[in-house]
Amino acid sequence: MTEFRFDIATKDGGARRGRLQTAHGPAETPAFMPVGTVGTVKGMLPDHVAETGAQIVLGNTYHLMLRPGSPRVKALGGLHKFMGWPGPILTDSGGFQVMSLGNLREMSEDGVTFRSHIDGSKHALTPERSTEIQDDLDSTITMVLDECTPWPVDEAGAASSMRLSMRWADRSRAAFRARPGYGQFGIVQGSTFPDLRAESVAALAEIGFEGYAVGGLAVGEGQQMMFDTLDVTTPAMPGDKPRYLMGVGRPSDIVGAVARGIDMFDCVLPTRSGRTGKAFVKGGELNIRNARHVEADIPVDPDCACPACRQFSRAYLHHLFKAGEMLGPILLTWHNLQHFQDLMRGIRAAIEAGAFDTFQSNHQSAKAAFDSKAD
Ligand SMILES: [Zn+2]
Repeated sequence: MTEFRFDIATKDGGARRGRLQTAHGPAETPAFMPVGTVGTVKGMLPDHVAETGAQIVLGNTYHLMLRPGSPRVKALGGLHKFMGWPGPILTDSGGFQVMSLGNLREMSEDGVTFRSHIDGSKHALTPERSTEIQDDLDSTITMVLDECTPWPVDEAGAASSMRLSMRWADRSRAAFRARPGYGQFGIVQGSTFPDLRAESVAALAEIGFEGYAVGGLAVGEGQQMMFDTLDVTTPAMPGDKPRYLMGVGRPSDIVGAVARGIDMFDCVLPTRSGRTGKAFVKGGELNIRNARHVEADIPVDPDCACPACRQFSRAYLHHLFKAGEMLGPILLTWHNLQHFQDLMRGIRAAIEAGAFDTFQSNHQSAKAAFDSKAD
């Protein structure tokens, strides 16, 4: 059986070029994980997701526990078989979605009780229950249940929230069933307060996990504050374990976070933007619904190898969106996933070449050039 491993091949400044080894195969890092919320990366066949270069995808515990339910997924052979994705799957704990239910949920030391957004039925999510559901799903990487601290928050509020998450991390770890090639990640909280982040890292390292995530960022604090928080957080995190920045983000967020030692990312941006007619290109995003594309007989990105760019023009994609044809969202989702995986490939190659600084400044120049002509 494959051991769960993380090997760092080379570093360039703070950036790390590594590889995860899991029971379900490897993933080269820095890695971007497409989000497969309810057991599907919306609009994409698993083979097509893999074709873009993605090696690991994310599944959402909250959605899958409500529908179709984790015992059913387990009975059907686990999430890999159920959704036709044999590679590694990371599942979140369900906490983030539950916390965002507002007055439909109630928090206590034990966990969260909430009402389903689907049928109003009552459910409880505790550290133990979340871990058990992720076990049912046969998740390659299980996340601990944490409280996603809202932002802004004062230091006392951030401290009590973080300490609750650390007690939950301890309980999540106790409930985790260790198996070769499977891992569980702890989640660093503490909002934007350096002392709290340090306390959280120390508490998690004391428990001991196969990897560590940074949570509670990209919640409205802005890019600079996110980078400032990473600057004081990642150097304290165990150096030989993968680091995952949850829910991030835009290409410029990813590049800046890699420079600060992050190895893994997930975000709904490429898939969600694809469904609403936004296409990522060098330096920014195009809105394909914009009237200036109506006769544009050029691809979204001439350097992109995805089917949307290889076979079709901006004018055709514009037409599909105007006509409400389902092929439009499918093609732009594919393109955006390809764009993000090409970005990660470029990042990995730059780190290997010891040229990540140049990569980063080129990326910033492209963004500045794009912003100056705005779509
Ligand atoms: Zn493309």
